[in-house]
Amino acid sequence: MELIPTYCYQCYNGPDPILVKVVDGFAVGVEPNYALASKHHSGGRVCSNAYGLIEKLYNPHRVKTPLLRTNPNKGRSEDPGWKEIGWDEALDILADRFREVKEKGGVDENGYPRIALTLGAAGTPEGHFGLLPTFLSTMFRWVGPIDLTIGTGQGVKCYHSEHVYGEFWHRAFMVVADLPKTKYLMSFGHNDVGSDGVTAWRLAQAKGEGLKIVKVEPHLSASAAFADKAIFIKPKTDAVFLFSMIHVILHENNWREVCDLEFLKKMTNSPYLIGPNGYYMRDVETRKPLIWDPIDNKAKRYDDPSITDYALEGKYRVDGVEVGPNGKVWEHEAAECKPSFQLLIEHVRKYAPEYAEKVCDIPEGTIREVTGEFLKNACIGMTVEVDGERLPYRPVAVELGKTVNNGPGGYETCWARTVLLSLVGALEVPGGAIGSGSRLNPPYEMRWMSVEPNPDGFMLQHFNPTGKEGWPPKVMFRGPFTALCPIMGSRGWASGIAPFTLAWMFMDDPPENWPNPPPPDIWIIYRANPLRTQWDPDLMERVVKKCPFITHITYIIDETSWYADLILPDHTDLEGYQLTSIFSKHWYSLWEHYGYILKQPVVKPVYNTKDMTDIIVELMDRLGLLVEFNSRVNRGSGTGIPLSGGNYDFRLKEDEKHCVEEIWDRICKAATAMLSNGEETYGLDWFKKNSAYLKPYPKPEKYLYHVFKRRGLRFEVPYQESVKKIGAELKNRLHERGVNWWDKQLEEYQALPHAKDFSKLWDEYYLKVGVNPEDFDMWLIASRSPNLAWTGNVSNRRMLNAAARALDFGGIVISSKAAEERGIKHGDTVIVESPFGKRESKVIVREGQRPDVALLIGQLGQWIAPYAKDIPVPNVSDFIKLDLDILDAGGSSCDLTRVRIHKP
Ligand code: SF4
Repeated sequence: MELIPTYCYQCYNGPDPILVKVVDGFAVGVEPNYALASKHHSGGRVCSNAYGLIEKLYNPHRVKTPLLRTNPNKGRSEDPGWKEIGWDEALDILADRFREVKEKGGVDENGYPRIALTLGAAGTPEGHFGLLPTFLSTMFRWVGPIDLTIGTGQGVKCYHSEHVYGEFWHRAFMVVADLPKTKYLMSFGHNDVGSDGVTAWRLAQAKGEGLKIVKVEPHLSASAAFADKAIFIKPKTDAVFLFSMIHVILHENNWREVCDLEFLKKMTNSPYLIGPNGYYMRDVETRKPLIWDPIDNKAKRYDDPSITDYALEGKYRVDGVEVGPNGKVWEHEAAECKPSFQLLIEHVRKYAPEYAEKVCDIPEGTIREVTGEFLKNACIGMTVEVDGERLPYRPVAVELGKTVNNGPGGYETCWARTVLLSLVGALEVPGGAIGSGSRLNPPYEMRWMSVEPNPDGFMLQHFNPTGKEGWPPKVMFRGPFTALCPIMGSRGWASGIAPFTLAWMFMDDPPENWPNPPPPDIWIIYRANPLRTQWDPDLMERVVKKCPFITHITYIIDETSWYADLILPDHTDLEGYQLTSIFSKHWYSLWEHYGYILKQPVVKPVYNTKDMTDIIVELMDRLGLLVEFNSRVNRGSGTGIPLSGGNYDFRLKEDEKHCVEEIWDRICKAATAMLSNGEETYGLDWFKKNSAYLKPYPKPEKYLYHVFKRRGLRFEVPYQESVKKIGAELKNRLHERGVNWWDKQLEEYQALPHAKDFSKLWDEYYLKVGVNPEDFDMWLIASRSPNLAWTGNVSNRRMLNAAARALDFGGIVISSKAAEERGIKHGDTVIVESPFGKRESKVIVREGQRPDVALLIGQLGQWIAPYAKDIPVPNVSDFIKLDLDILDAGGSSCDLTRVRIHKP
């Protein structure tokens, strides 16, 4: 018996170290890797999903060799007529297709790339796709850009606004509590127990150390069952709840006593003066924003060393200039200006708890009570020593979840969360809310490395151009993030949060005055099943049928494979190689070490499958691109690990074809030499035994506060001048081009956003398409199944069995009150009908859920994928149509629809 170290990376919490038990050449079990217990953030533990890797490896339904479609007709009732082929033939076919595109030109006449690549959810492909990023950069030079914006459901199923604004304020994809230091955690629909995998253990640890959790959501999730208090809020009204908390602090308390004034004055733009047109009042000469010094009684530049104090309230007569969209300048003499904090006070006046009670369906007393608890736990004035450095200690945090932080209302909720935390100084400090490790902006080694100053005293943002120069972009993406979403920028993985919804909608039916995006000539899909994870199945099928050539890299035939022309089965998680960094991974902020971990084969490949890196090398060879590819591997393109440095050199010979072991051996050696300044060098054999090479992480650098202080920076909050400005510029550009269909989304670009019941947008949309919302008396929402790893495990019997034992899985969940009103009993089969879809489902009746809310767990409703197709649970995607009216400015929406539920 052998215990072979490798990692699990089936969800964004990975890579998590595991040991695979191998007996007589067969993998028979998975164990935690306690050898890394002192370094791994969860003490070497894994979640139940890791145990499903064995089932995945030996799944009898695996694709056992490449497959070629023989039936040219595509449709649900059209059998693809798969023909088994060898790898040489399969890769020749794909290489020929690439060459055809090269001859035509990599982008079409409208600037759309002719090749597209779609990756699975939540960053997990990153742990398995080998040298795919190097392949992309090589292809970019050879044929042009590859479109990464044909999505699998991102935007409607993810934390979209949190990703966008997490990057803006935190340089992070997500904002998380600094567990276990946090003592008071408010969670608006963040299903940590369901989604956070091994990290849920940290939550349990914190709970044992006195953490109080307040859960605000419409149903009693597994996470809410773990909380101290559950508040059952009406869907899509969370922003109003948070605005009301801000109101209570600013209007019902003496904010001068309960807020962290030091933080507000020196770490935010609260004192920045706002001019009559809504832009910063600036110094005429330097164009730097002005503040009011109440001791010297005059306006000064925000960074003037003579500042004695900062005014947060009042109004002042100031000379200066405002700089608006497209460089428009307003010159002022003695113009009335107010600090942005004063505007915030005025802005939240109307959000009294009595108002919020009517919108959110939560008693006003509850909002006041939790606000009081939040303030009490903020510990303003306290500090804590972290690795010898004294930092503020503010053990309160707010986490947001799916349907709260994506779609309309997402920006408003993220903004309110950030403002609320800033009032008590709990942004990016120990115990407070900190950014996760994953992010868009390179470099990726440490989160703070991408923090650079801008002239206004904030972190520099890399917006997409909205001026006359640079807009529209030369290369158009089907999910047009560079053209429509300035705040996303275009660096790093920005395409990963593109408006994927628009890619599908526009390929089906292009909007007015917009370049027509055809489906790509070659569409490659890796570890994803967009036909089941994106909304609007009819639209999806129409578009997919128009794609001339689809390659699905998958281990199982699923709904997307059904429309593919070529199936390439890569090795499963326990058969392939990859060295993966722990930098930039989601929970990196919880690790106390950083470095690299190896995925290695624990058994010989079970079938005729290939390692992804081998697939890529073979394609490069066929396309005559090996030299270019090897030289990019040598430079660290795609891996971040240059194979040569000041004191090491492990470069590949550029004109040779290298096997997967040799490539990863050199990458292992270079990675260790790089991290140890040449003092240590370990190759593949060392990693095969030891799993990971890790170094202690400088703890104070987990907190951006520390970096901001060092560089004299502030958080751009509460007043979003830059958001207002780029929104106005984008509006000009779109209107110049006759594009008015994005006007509703442009309203989102507010310096101080407004909160409301965002579910009303759905009702307005239904009325517009001739549906009376009153005919559908429940809101259907969806949540993840922790065991299904998004949809990665839906064809894994072991994980499906585990999921079936979990709370709320296996049917549509309604409250006992709703069931009684409809004469429905637990276990009945019912009809679930939305304005756009009708499906049967089993019913789960339970307490602790709003009677006007129904819940579906997981993304099921498969009709091809093995095992999953036998589960009688519909998919929320089958009830919703893609439409601009329910999309936000990032093209995102959320799993929400009105339904009615009745007996057949
Ligand atoms: S499924 Fe996710 S949380 Fe669970 S062990 Fe794997 S990577 Fe870790």
